[in-house]
Amino acid sequence: MRYLDFHTHTWPEESQDTDAIISCVAPEPVCDQRTGVFLSYGIHPWYIQGHDPEKLLGHVREAAHFTRVVAIGEAGLDKVKGPPLDVQKRLFCQQIEISEIVKKPLIIHSVKANNEVLKLRKTMNPAQPWIIHGFSGHPQEMEQFLEAGFYLSFGPKILYPSNKAAESFRQVPEDRFLLETDHTNKSIEALYDKAAVIREISVKALQEAIRRNGEKLIPALKRG
Ligand SMILES: [Zn+2]
Repeated sequence: MRYLDFHTHTWPEESQDTDAIISCVAPEPVCDQRTGVFLSYGIHPWYIQGHDPEKLLGHVREAAHFTRVVAIGEAGLDKVKGPPLDVQKRLFCQQIEISEIVKKPLIIHSVKANNEVLKLRKTMNPAQPWIIHGFSGHPQEMEQFLEAGFYLSFGPKILYPSNKAAESFRQVPEDRFLLETDHTNKSIEALYDKAAVIREISVKALQEAIRRNGEKLIPALKRG
């Protein structure tokens, strides 16, 4: 069975048995698709400065309609890096609206802004699923997101057993998680191997669960 890397900035090797969702960041052009490679497109909070926000939004609005763009994002809020929070928030809300209009899920970047993101889900009440990418919070934080209906994509932080993300990953319900390599050079295979150990299941069972979750969120993944 093929691996699914739910969020990455690196194209998988063709020899790798991996489907991947590549995170394209506005204003970069929407790249071509290849079998097993899907795209998300959005305004990343780190890369707003120096650009005209309206132009960035125009890129997202256009890309959102492409078939090969299967999700909006990564979009979100970052209290450590990026422009003032009100600027980030305005662009995030507009991308929430785009996700609703094109009926594609939203992949979220949240750094020290989990409460704001939770609040926005409650106030905006979107129909599309929201996925927190690179979730690395402790189990209590995870519980809040699960209760609010979010999905959580876990990254290489789970490779460190003392990390709170590893404990959250051990506890996350089978139908609510994904795995991703993001910006790191960790291999998706190594991540699945470790993840299977943490959850005390086989790699195959893990692949099946992630495949189910991925295809539920993004039916286009079925056609691979
Ligand atoms: Zn990313």
